[in-house]
Amino acid sequence: MLVVMQHGAASAEVDRVVSVIKEMGYDARPMPGAQRTAIGVVGNDGRVNASRLAALPGVQEIIHVTKPYKQVSREWKPESTIVTIAPGVSFGGTDIPIISGPCSVESEEQILEAAHAVVAAGGTALRGGAFKPRSSPYSFQGLGKKGLELLALARRETGLPIVTEAMDDEGAHIVAEIADCIQVGARNMQNYSLLKSVGRIGKPVLLKRGMAATIADLLLSAEYILSEGNSQVILCERGVRSFDPSSRNMFDLTAIPTVHKLSHLPIVGDPSHGTGIRDKVTPMARAALAAGADGIIVEMHPHPDNALSDGAQSLFPDQLATLVEELRAVAAAIGRRVTPSPAA
Ligand code: PEP
Ligand code: MN
Repeated sequence: MLVVMQHGAASAEVDRVVSVIKEMGYDARPMPGAQRTAIGVVGNDGRVNASRLAALPGVQEIIHVTKPYKQVSREWKPESTIVTIAPGVSFGGTDIPIISGPCSVESEEQILEAAHAVVAAGGTALRGGAFKPRSSPYSFQGLGKKGLELLALARRETGLPIVTEAMDDEGAHIVAEIADCIQVGARNMQNYSLLKSVGRIGKPVLLKRGMAATIADLLLSAEYILSEGNSQVILCERGVRSFDPSSRNMFDLTAIPTVHKLSHLPIVGDPSHGTGIRDKVTPMARAALAAGADGIIVEMHPHPDNALSDGAQSLFPDQLATLVEELRAVAAAIGRRVTPSPAA
């Protein structure tokens, strides 16, 4: 439930509402907004008797949040949340960062070459998995901690902030020491102990939609992170399983405006995992941006034919450069702007 204060309500009136909520046995979360303050009521399993709160001075209205998720909803917080992963790199405002790099960190030479190619193409942040969730235990599992050190080296050389995946609680703490944004992958979207862990760590999180997750499932997973006190969550549409084998996944463009309607959190599009096929990546990246995505995450490898994972969906460096140019034009057409490379 949400208590919306009148425009210009005095801070003593807000304090009074907070203390009455606490007296009633719930937790109060005041959220000062540009126009007015709203106070969230948490800890209630059922419906709260709102009449006592509605009658307090300065209260404008009581909104019952009926969805199973609460803190991620637009009812709870009408203004869009802006998640900043590094100075000048924010998701959810006018600017649209482009995160790019290989699926996996493979070697020092590979990740440095990739990072320089991201900057040369006009990308904003570097991706690359050090801990890889592979469908087969016999596939390349990532370089682990060594991979994180190589990502840190690439950041020192290029200034690009780092987005990289954590797969479990222990890994999340290790990843958090280096990453600017911790990725929770599709396979772990419902790993609730990992979600709680990244919620407590408090660093920005990129939460990818599970392969068979509904949008409500995705928002409920984000709710786990917010409920631990971390509102720095970027959602990611990366395609869902479908009956049609003509692409790896079905990239759900509709998820983007749907999430924007239901939630204040930013959402980025991942056309690489969304399609799985290199020549489908560019058209779907353009489309995701046109649909309102707050960022694009796209795989690029300096030598995709030699990639240890996801080579078939990785762009060549020159394809990334062309894509970023096109994304700038799409962004301009809808009153937005691609975030420049931090090094630029
Ligand atoms: C990845 O980003 O390389 C990845 C494994 O993505 P997903 O979790 O969406 O499959
Ligand atoms: Mn990948």
